Amino acid sequence: MNETTRIRTLQHFIAGDWAEAAEGATFEVLNPLDDSLYCHAARGSAADVQKAVAAAKAGFSGYRDSLPKDRERMLLRVAEIMETRKGELVDCLIDEIGSPLQKAMFEFEKALTMVRAAAGLCRNVRGETIPSDRPGTFSMSVREPLGVVAVITPFNVPLIKTSRLVANALAVGNTVVHLPSEMAPHLSVLFADIVAEAGFPAGAYNVVTGMGAEIGDELTGHADVDFVTFTGSSVIGQHINEICAKNKTPNTLELGGKSPTVILADADLDKTVPLAARSIFMFGGQACIGTSRFYVERPVFDEFVKRFAMIAGKVGMGDLRSPDTVIAPIISERQRARVRDHITDAVAKGATVVTGGEWEGNRCQPTLLTGVSEDMTVCRAETFGPVTSIYPIDSYEEGLEKANDTDFGLSSAIFTKDIDKAFHFARSIDAGMCHINGPTIHDEAHVPFGGNGESGVGREGTDADMEAMTELKWITVQL
Ligand code: NAD
Repeated sequence: MNETTRIRTLQHFIAGDWAEAAEGATFEVLNPLDDSLYCHAARGSAADVQKAVAAAKAGFSGYRDSLPKDRERMLLRVAEIMETRKGELVDCLIDEIGSPLQKAMFEFEKALTMVRAAAGLCRNVRGETIPSDRPGTFSMSVREPLGVVAVITPFNVPLIKTSRLVANALAVGNTVVHLPSEMAPHLSVLFADIVAEAGFPAGAYNVVTGMGAEIGDELTGHADVDFVTFTGSSVIGQHINEICAKNKTPNTLELGGKSPTVILADADLDKTVPLAARSIFMFGGQACIGTSRFYVERPVFDEFVKRFAMIAGKVGMGDLRSPDTVIAPIISERQRARVRDHITDAVAKGATVVTGGEWEGNRCQPTLLTGVSEDMTVCRAETFGPVTSIYPIDSYEEGLEKANDTDFGLSSAIFTKDIDKAFHFARSIDAGMCHINGPTIHDEAHVPFGGNGESGVGREGTDADMEAMTELKWITVQL
């Protein structure tokens, strides 16, 4: 298949080959900026998933014994090829999911670090020697890959999630079947092309494009899938968790958030306010770790709101390829309806729109709400748009209590000069991640990334994925 055809109508990548959907069906992928046609992609069916899982299973029998130096070399080669194909990947992030250039560049650079960090993992899949009570026994544990890993990724950071999860799974000796978001299949198809060029054997990495709602259960419930890693909404995460529980398939779930930031009266507002803006407006608020709740101590509340509104009013909404643009189009009509509903419902019930609230095409203006109360949907549900609520608090203790008053538990932050309160907050917040004097949006290749409660199960990152995607085996030698 030539490049043009692959871009016009994406195909699955199974057993080292490009393939149409078994039933020949396709679906349309739209550019969210104006809903114009971006490409067509193979609409996978259960038969395609079965074919991909069979390929990954067959591939695993040889790949599991591959040498660390070979996996390391191939992963470093993936990073090299990504650099040579940077323009293509960045263009895809802009035109397929509406990333502004600065987010696309950020995502590309972050993804490179993910792949390189995974290369370093290959030599670190280690067990240990264990003392034994049995005389003359040498006792040890070894870590072994699990087999076929199902990777399911969302639309918003497709290159970061694909790079991290696929690279970590391959680094420790697993093979992969990847179901990318139906809104971002091209990115994963490009990644498959790069993985193949880097020399990974047939069956190591397989991509099936299609609608998650139609074929997801076939993948997560497949008897030959040994691990599932899912990133996406909490509702689908819960559904997958139930399927995995039934089949005893280990899994990690990286789900939604309603992340809080607490700002105490002693915070340096000159530094805090720009970081607050970065915490929510990046990619138009379509970040799981974005701050959608700010709790601000009353003495600085008005000043914080005033300065935040000034910055929000100036956040770039221009050409996606302009380096100043921050606000992205909301990905789909369904998600736009959700963002609109959250704002309209809040306003109808008495909230104040300090700034924003209007739409320019498919982009929602950066929106700050005050006077948000419990009966408003925006108070507790994930909006996934450039919309955040600012609440006054009378004390640090109230801030902590309110920050913890949520079913989610992904990222969190506190801004203060008081180290005791800052650490108390970090240790008391029921969230997977906490940043002191830094924004809730922060990720690195080797950190334990993930959330509690409705925000997920388990952590990802090099060490966390290595532990999750391998199993220990106990071996003894009677001497
Ligand atoms: P989504 O849940 O709509 O879709 C995610 C993926 O699930 C897609 O690939 C989709 O095809 C697939 N899917 C749908 N039904 C399925 C099924 N029955 N079985 C298996 N897979 C199925 O999420 P989205 O709109 O693409 O992404 C936004 C959501 O993802 C937000 O809730 C956001 O907070 C979350 N997210 C979380 C993290 C994190 O690390 N915690 C990171 C990014 C996004």
